[in-house]
Amino acid sequence: MQVDYAIIGAGPTGLGAARRLAELGCENFVVLEKNAHPGGLAASFKDAHGYTWDIGGHVVFSHYEYFDRMLDELLGADQLRHERRAYIRARGAWVPYPFQNNIRHLPRPARWECVSGLLPGRRPEGPPRNFQEWIACVFGEGIGNLFLWPYNFKVWAIPPALMSASWVGERVSIVSLEGVLKNIILELDEVGWGPNNAFAFPAFGGTGEIFRRMAAPLSGHIRYGDGVAQIDAAKKTLTTASGEKITFGALLNTGPLDLLVREQLLSPPDECVEAAKLLKHNGVYVAGVGVAERPLYEGEKDQRCWMYFPEDDCPFYRVTNFHNYAPANVPDPDHEGGPQKAAFLCETSFSGHKPEDRATLMERTVAGLGNVGLLPEQAQARVESRFEMSVEYGYPIPCLERDQALRTLQPRLEAEGISSRGRFGGWKYEVGNMDHSVMQGVEWAERMLLKQPEKTYTWK
Ligand SMILES: Cc1cc2nc3c(=O)[nH]c(=O)nc-3n(C[C@H](O)[C@H](O)[C@H](O)COP(=O)(O)OP(=O)(O)OC[C@H]3O[C@@H](n4cnc5c(N)ncnc54)[C@H](O)[C@@H]3O)c2cc1C
Repeated sequence: MQVDYAIIGAGPTGLGAARRLAELGCENFVVLEKNAHPGGLAASFKDAHGYTWDIGGHVVFSHYEYFDRMLDELLGADQLRHERRAYIRARGAWVPYPFQNNIRHLPRPARWECVSGLLPGRRPEGPPRNFQEWIACVFGEGIGNLFLWPYNFKVWAIPPALMSASWVGERVSIVSLEGVLKNIILELDEVGWGPNNAFAFPAFGGTGEIFRRMAAPLSGHIRYGDGVAQIDAAKKTLTTASGEKITFGALLNTGPLDLLVREQLLSPPDECVEAAKLLKHNGVYVAGVGVAERPLYEGEKDQRCWMYFPEDDCPFYRVTNFHNYAPANVPDPDHEGGPQKAAFLCETSFSGHKPEDRATLMERTVAGLGNVGLLPEQAQARVESRFEMSVEYGYPIPCLERDQALRTLQPRLEAEGISSRGRFGGWKYEVGNMDHSVMQGVEWAERMLLKQPEKTYTWK
């Protein structure tokens, strides 16, 4: 088989590229997907009890007109809109997100810890050499100890001292002593910060529904269940796991960049092999805990979307009340008086720095839900579904060596006609969400056909 364009992966990036190639009138391309389904990390699954689960709670928010239009075209009326209601569990309190803007919800001694860390002369002057130091310079020891240091270790599964702070941008709300004091004294909450303060969600099928619908009209171009095993860049051919050979004009990889270099490229240059070793990632274990009856929060229906957990009374760093995202995420959504069941989507990260015994994680997750007050002991008997998934590649870590590695790898690959984009293809967390990923694919297709420069992904 011979194609102008070969795309590895039918996740958001690969589908973005394929959709745009087709929109621009290109017919001669193929998408090779090792799984039997589209969506990659943004896929969703229905379990045997009728609960729908994402691979970790996904919310759809976008920075791009193209992506918004596409979502409307694909989902039409089948999308629900939500306001973010996110919280952090610390010292027995629920603090509205962003933590640093809502310190007043903490017990008094903890409030003082946060304030005293921000007093003049208490914070190191910098410049910070890594993420650990950046937190100290910007937020001080109190907020660092209570939330940012333990939480970031829990989610990234790597000490923040080994991470760069260059990715932070719009991902972390910056706060001042004045802001914290105002919050405490005037009792004014600040909960609207950030790009994801409102989000959309498919009415049924989970986040994966977006990508099932995106893939459907492209099905003639997509081959499922046959991964790319080897790439001969010099001959511009690839070989699939089943042994098929495909010759391509240009190649878009959307699978993990380190695996592309280490396992798929034939005779990769030594400097690329060395650079690929510098890339770090964590894995994420996802536990879907389905409960026959929704526990109440402060005596009422729990309206919260998701919650962060920096402390060690539970293994997970985040729990999503997935039942609040769409009634169809739980069985019997049309129950008289509204759906009755609860779907807790719990995420725990793991790595060499933070090993987790996966054999006991479900049990520890359910116990943790009890410890943090989400699932009282009597309700634990009502757990009817325990759905487990684990992905080895969860978060591409913005480690200190990342940018140097990308500056070595990307130009070498481009010179061979190979572009590597998307969450793990591009390995840049700051442009690693679904909207960024789709747009990286779209912009790659526009570069191929229209010679337009890409904007979302750069490595310089
Ligand atoms: C826990 C978690 C929570 C998240 N939450 C959000 C959120 O709230 N909002 C948001 O916008 N984004 C979120 N994301 C990110 C979102 O999942 C990604 O942006 C998106 O899935 C990346 O798309 P991609 O196509 O680049 O990569 P992937 O989704 O990883 O897709 C790559 C595809 O390539 C295939 N592949 C890999 N290697 C090969 C091979 N050799 N041959 C053939 N096929 C191959 C894979 O099977 C996969 O289907 C979250 C991710 C995680 C892990």
